[in-house]
Amino acid sequence: MQAIWKIGDTEIEHYPALAGKREADVVVIGAGITGLTTALQLAEDGSRVIVLEALSVGEGCTGGSTGNLYSPLAKGLSAIRKKWGDDVSRDIVTSRIETIDFIEATIERFAIDCQFHRRPLYRLFTTADEVQAYELDEERKALLEAGLEVEDIEQHVLPFSPLQGLKINDQAQFNPLLYVQGLAKAVSAMGVTILEHSPVRDVDYKQGVVKTDTAAVTARHIVHATHTPKGVDLLQTGMLPSREYGVSAKLNGEAYPEGIFWMLDPFHSLRSYRYAGESYLMVIGEKHKTGEGKYDYYQRLREYLSQHFDVQEFCHQWSAQQYSSADGLPYIGRMHARDNVYVATGFAADGLTWGTLAGRIIADLIHGRDNTWHAHFDARRITPAKSAGGWVKENASVTKHLVQDYLATGKLKEFAELAPGEAKVATLDGEKLAIYRNESGELSVLSAVCPHMKCLVHWNANDTTWDCPCHGSRFDTRGDVIEGPAYHALERRDPPVDS
Ligand SMILES: Cc1cc2nc3c(=O)[nH]c(=O)nc-3n(C[C@H](O)[C@H](O)[C@H](O)COP(=O)(O)OP(=O)(O)OC[C@H]3O[C@@H](n4cnc5c(N)ncnc54)[C@H](O)[C@@H]3O)c2cc1C
Repeated sequence: MQAIWKIGDTEIEHYPALAGKREADVVVIGAGITGLTTALQLAEDGSRVIVLEALSVGEGCTGGSTGNLYSPLAKGLSAIRKKWGDDVSRDIVTSRIETIDFIEATIERFAIDCQFHRRPLYRLFTTADEVQAYELDEERKALLEAGLEVEDIEQHVLPFSPLQGLKINDQAQFNPLLYVQGLAKAVSAMGVTILEHSPVRDVDYKQGVVKTDTAAVTARHIVHATHTPKGVDLLQTGMLPSREYGVSAKLNGEAYPEGIFWMLDPFHSLRSYRYAGESYLMVIGEKHKTGEGKYDYYQRLREYLSQHFDVQEFCHQWSAQQYSSADGLPYIGRMHARDNVYVATGFAADGLTWGTLAGRIIADLIHGRDNTWHAHFDARRITPAKSAGGWVKENASVTKHLVQDYLATGKLKEFAELAPGEAKVATLDGEKLAIYRNESGELSVLSAVCPHMKCLVHWNANDTTWDCPCHGSRFDTRGDVIEGPAYHALERRDPPVDS
């Protein structure tokens, strides 16, 4: 299972793992779009920067995204306008337009071959009832008020028939993985040290030391560009982690739609991608809270494409995680109570642009420069009225998982109960275990207790992973961390010899 963006990344640069002790002005944890943009901005100013990446460049959410760059927000600008008012809504759009222009200029400057194209964005409904007409009307007002030009869609823009919708010109698309790989190459040439396969396991904030299993970096400034901050942080209490899935296909014929298509009933994002003479159509959707998946989401997306297009063959499938903040805006800037530690999170599905803006804001903060946009996104903001709904919902969900999951875990009498391909969280000799038997019959037995905040992990059959429903930490079947706030693996237990 791999994302479509991997096509054509065979000649990429690889970077070594961290060994021994190093020093830097700034250590950036994470080499996604946020971390590498931060590194670029800091390198411009002559800072000594080290980027530590647990996996490889772009392998986090950036390389699993849809590669769309747009000035409004996927959830709708009208929701932000209602919550935050016209001025903030206008600033959001202006800051995002500026950021997309920055990405385009960066691509030109470093000659990054990542298929960047200006494209229109469509918000479309396939039905035309009053509620949807009202929603479109509210969105149209918010977009116009924010200074965007909006067209009403009356003609058919897809082979099937959206009945009403809006079009905004001059948005953009690219291959996000090739973009960050290009950024990595550029910053590396500017003197930034990038280290892959170097998961950070601990940060000593007092001493300013960031530690991996075998090495350490001492730095004056530490940036968590890890999509959600690592370890236990106040911000996580109001953050909703969700998973979303993608499938790509080749079509019979040439009817590949050009643009960003957001189908709103229910939400599916469609776009095409061309590489080396081949065309692909992809659909992204089926969002659900992390750890609470119930269905075969890849199959559902395949059915969606087959229903609406003449599919020749399916080519790729992948999934990725997003974190939504309780008040609808990202958190960018200094961590609570730590002046030299920076975070960037809560990007929802809009983080290619937010992550780039975050890199620029964080670099400005480190260098003591004013930044026009920071005040709106300050990671230390407290917004009880605007966050209350999301905060209460998310914390009720965490409490429910903490209490109910522990009570509801059934007992396992013997490991033989588990058939090949099956997984289960069960109590054995009083301990909560996450047990999986692979298709070859081998058993993996792990503690089911997430090392982040002690919730129990849930099985994710779509991706064969253990996912924590509380704050989104995810683990492979050997227990190793894939993503999320946890620093450490699920503890391993020895399966019985005759299992
Ligand atoms: C399905 C989906 C589609 C999306 N599509 C779009 C889109 O079209 N447009 C858009 O604007 N946004 C989109 N988004 C959101 C966007 O992709 C993300 O918000 C953005 O990529 C986040 O970038 P990042 O650099 O902050 O995080 P990431 O890309 O996740 O990078 C964080 C990095 O930190 C590393 N890391 C984590 N822990 C450690 C550790 N302990 N030590 C060292 N490194 C560590 C990770 O391995 C990872 O590489 C989408 C999201 C999803 C889920």
